[in-house]
Amino acid sequence: MISLGCPKNLVDSEVMLGLLSRSHYRITPDETQAEVIIVNTCSFIREATEEAIDTILRVSQCKRNGLCRRLIVCGCLPQRYGPQLLEELPEVDLFIGTGQFHLIDALIESAPRKLYVDNPPSFLYDHRTPRLISTPNHTAYVKIAEGCSRACSFCTVPKLRGRYRSRDPASVIQEVAQLARAGIKEVVLISQDTTSYGRDLGKGISLETLLRDMVKTEDIEWIRLLYLYPDPKQFTDGLIEVIAREEKICKYIDLPIQHINDGILKAMKRGVTGSQLRQLINTLRRRIPGLTLRTSLIVGFPGETEAHFRHLVKFIEEVQFDRMGVFRYSPEEGTPAAWFGNHVPEEVKEARYRKIMELQANISLGKNLGLIGTIQRVLVEGYCAETRYLLRGRMASQAPDIDGEVYITRGTASSRMVNLRVTHASEYDVIGEVSSS
Ligand code: SF4
Repeated sequence: MISLGCPKNLVDSEVMLGLLSRSHYRITPDETQAEVIIVNTCSFIREATEEAIDTILRVSQCKRNGLCRRLIVCGCLPQRYGPQLLEELPEVDLFIGTGQFHLIDALIESAPRKLYVDNPPSFLYDHRTPRLISTPNHTAYVKIAEGCSRACSFCTVPKLRGRYRSRDPASVIQEVAQLARAGIKEVVLISQDTTSYGRDLGKGISLETLLRDMVKTEDIEWIRLLYLYPDPKQFTDGLIEVIAREEKICKYIDLPIQHINDGILKAMKRGVTGSQLRQLINTLRRRIPGLTLRTSLIVGFPGETEAHFRHLVKFIEEVQFDRMGVFRYSPEEGTPAAWFGNHVPEEVKEARYRKIMELQANISLGKNLGLIGTIQRVLVEGYCAETRYLLRGRMASQAPDIDGEVYITRGTASSRMVNLRVTHASEYDVIGEVSSS
């Protein structure tokens, strides 16, 4: 299994692996030894689509030179380009969209047709669905909802993943309990729009009520929240209070704002203004002590002038986010923004991207240097990839895969969670020693 794209796609890959393991397939990490290769693709922007096609063409070699007799492509690429791919990628035996991957064990050997895509996708896994966790054995993603019912003008996700559909809260709680019994210490709650959880279920169900139940789960140390849409209406007092008060909930909020300028936010159809975003950020910081704030930004959106960009830079200098991801705007066919005028030249996008990454690297370095001498709680993840003389881990303020890490230079980690005295820091990582205090 080659799983591309975001953690939401990774959960789909893990469900497919769970279903296939139940059907007695053996999973191999070596594509040259595999009889069946599955590529679970991402296709939300052009770069991801290109990576998916490059990967498919690369592994299709295994059909000529290796043991592979069946090449299966799943996920967002078939969902987006299905029929077209039948002609363009004849080496692929089967295409399955984002709503049909739960049929993998029925279709893997043979299927009456080559393309399985339902529009809109409707499948939603639950705690009874077999799933083979592929992340390290102390952390796991839990997808609490699928799809998106918003309409950001640059985004293809609603078309690829269908309307927003929350999982049943009891099923989510049962899955977290199952994971805790299996030794998982950190659960990372994900969806396209995590703050909207429960809205489609009614009955007063919300992210707040889900969290109030989830913190009762024994043996879970960290509950982390990703992809919280910055909608002030959904950051209720109760939600903020439960995040601030419950020890198990990481004081970590991933709040993708995309931009700060009102004109750009309006063109992006984000449904929020710059001053509402500022107010939300101030409220979260005031009411959640020790909050780590992550955001995502898009530079080079159609119509973004130098003045708009300077406005964004000034805002970043003021707010000093702790973590940040930056994207260069990518015109995607099938989205309204692709038809907007005033597209920004690629070299200008590139320059704006570099400017913000540089600025954020300095901000991040300053914050990490400020940690020197402090004691931090660290989830030990294992040996450093480069050397077994160093252990690596993460603080509660570092999400898996997207943030920096902690390197442990001295001391023994006799348990998964240790106290660490920070001794050195770089832009994204910190270094330290296990501390008894
Ligand atoms: S909230 Fe907007 S950007 Fe995020 S998945 Fe939905 S439409 Fe796309």
